[in-house]
Amino acid sequence: MMRFDIITIFPNIFDSYINTSILRIAQKKKKIKIKIHNLRDYADDKHHTTDDRPYGGGPGMVMKIEPLSKCLKAIKKKKKCKILIMDPAGKIFNQKIAQNYSEKLDQIIFICGRYEGYDARIYKLADEKISLGQYVLSGGELPAMIITEAITRLLPGVLGHEHSAIEETFSGDLDYIEYPQYTRPENFHGQKVPKILLSGNHQKILAWRRKHKK
Ligand code: SAH
Repeated sequence: MMRFDIITIFPNIFDSYINTSILRIAQKKKKIKIKIHNLRDYADDKHHTTDDRPYGGGPGMVMKIEPLSKCLKAIKKKKKCKILIMDPAGKIFNQKIAQNYSEKLDQIIFICGRYEGYDARIYKLADEKISLGQYVLSGGELPAMIITEAITRLLPGVLGHEHSAIEETFSGDLDYIEYPQYTRPENFHGQKVPKILLSGNHQKILAWRRKHKK
């Protein structure tokens, strides 16, 4: 079973999404476990402060190191565990990384930032700095959820059809693009489904699919 631990100051962001569709089923089938950790529970002061003003001045607030360090210490680690810190300036996540993590790890701990980002010493607590892409979001929660989902659907037994994850875009190699797919109607205002797909000839269909990209 793969375990995902997500550290956040907004735990309820996850409620609906992780309890719907593939992520819900994967948890029910015991292929994954998702645990959300409320960072505020690890802040000792009366107001459960997780951010503070930056030394040297500047806009906004910065995430404090003590609550994060404490929270990380409290999380039980499996043997093959990686701590990922969500950061727009990190290594950009892709299907290859998802495949690699799904095969090699049995636990991922996500640090989700908010505000203007992290006290620089927080990066030392993580194994890798990961970005979802070259744009800035308001928090690491969506990136953590996206990475969790991309990995989960690659775990054996999660998707219904054994091959669904094998013939997909980016699978095996990042240049691979899935073939075009059609469903009813056969003719939509003159746009017809390629005849070969209606032929029932599986070899020809396979050859056609190898030649075409969506
Ligand atoms: N001031 C920071 C951005 C802070 S955004 C900077 O200039 O780099 C607040 C938090 O949102 C970040 O700490 C990170 O956890 C998350 N975040 C924002 N964009 C992200 C992205 N593209 N990928 C991953 N995490 C991101």
